[in-house]
Amino acid sequence: MSCTSCGNNAKKSKSRRVKDVIIAAINHPYSILKAHYRTVIKDESIESIAKPRLVQCYNCKDKKLIATILNKQIYICGYCSCPIESKARDLNETCSLNKW
Ligand code: SF4
Repeated sequence: MSCTSCGNNAKKSKSRRVKDVIIAAINHPYSILKAHYRTVIKDESIESIAKPRLVQCYNCKDKKLIATILNKQIYICGYCSCPIESKARDLNETCSLNKW
């Protein structure tokens, strides 16, 4: 199953995923940048949508911890490899398992 906005897929080979991320960044740069921007600059209307999504993601057994930076744990979706903090804030996104 792939991410609806970036097309990323955790089950693909690493080189294929890197290629997909580059293609997605070329095809959807505005959407991806906007989602990452929203993780830094919070908009209350977006946060009201993102919070219940993030509850689902942080309770999801398919999330994966990829790093801990300054005591903050960084998780990605185990299905599409998208960072869950930005995936939840992308209004065009959907959960790969239809949880939100
Ligand atoms: S997007 Fe869906 S499958 Fe991915 S971590 Fe969140 S709840 Fe789990």
